[in-house]
Amino acid sequence: MTAKVIDGKAFAAGVRAQVAEHVARLREENGLQPGLAVVLVGEDPASKVYVKNKHASTVEVGMASFEHRRDASISEAELLALIDQLNADPKVHGILVQLPLPGHLNSELVINRIDPAKDVDGFHISNVGLLGTGQKSMVPCTPLGCLMMLRDHHGKLAGLNAVVVGRSNIVGKPMAQLLLGDSCTVTIAHSRTKDLAAVCRGADILVAAVGRPEMITGDMVRPGATVIDVGINRIERDGKAKLVGDVHYESAAAVAGAITPVPGGVGPMTIACLLANTLTACCRANGLAEPEGLTA
Ligand code: NAP
Repeated sequence: MTAKVIDGKAFAAGVRAQVAEHVARLREENGLQPGLAVVLVGEDPASKVYVKNKHASTVEVGMASFEHRRDASISEAELLALIDQLNADPKVHGILVQLPLPGHLNSELVINRIDPAKDVDGFHISNVGLLGTGQKSMVPCTPLGCLMMLRDHHGKLAGLNAVVVGRSNIVGKPMAQLLLGDSCTVTIAHSRTKDLAAVCRGADILVAAVGRPEMITGDMVRPGATVIDVGINRIERDGKAKLVGDVHYESAAAVAGAITPVPGGVGPMTIACLLANTLTACCRANGLAEPEGLTA
């Protein structure tokens, strides 16, 4: 069997086009422009690239992009004051604080200072609670992107066995909540799970969010299963830098029914979902109907 490749790049382009269409309509019919504020503290090279890409994608769909770069020496009080200012700004519908923050800043305190209605990363404790209790929330972008691709591939997910490998707050746990919300039977596996291979083989849907290059191999995949690879790992092979997922692609693709590649799978969906969340936040803030299919 050769798995169908779930093309996240194409899917994300479709989501961005949908967002752009809604943004244009909001402008025409309501005189509104959704706005995303991104806060970058310090000089982390990877964070700078992410922020640059987010800015370009935001502008591309017709949204306003507000970048706030601050020196790594910023005090916690100054950063919290900036968040307060963005919370109060009616032109800002989404706020994202690029993580990781420098060590002297308390990330939880900063994230929890964001107005939950503007928390487009979905990391605020209120949004975590809302998602966990099945209420309307802002949903973390990476798991939301995975859910969209799974719904598209399967139609209804109810009754399917889903195994999520990884229990981080930003991917594993919200992913499990979303799958539960769609009535999957969900197992969360982690570093202390006994016989991980057997657990994984029970999955109709296998989501890998481990951060270990190519750890999930074909012998851990049930024939015909859908494999979603969240991992982004930079490795060196044959003297060359290479990007690989948490799934060993060749062996898994030989067994799975469908699989996301790395790169070009989950990655592009994350920014697309950030834009979708900003649009949703803008609609909610203005008492307008939310766009269909762009939230959980
Ligand atoms: P994380 O916070 O490091 O969490 C990793 C999880 O994997 C932990 O729950 C850990 O278990 C579990 N784990 C580690 N080793 C294991 C093993 N041998 N067997 C079973 N479980 C094991 O990572 P994360 O932030 O969730 O990210 C996961 C991956 O997704 C990374 O590769 C990251 O780069 C990628 N990522 C991609 C995107 C995207 O846009 N595509 C976004 C975010 C993250 P314990 O809890 O027991 O330690």
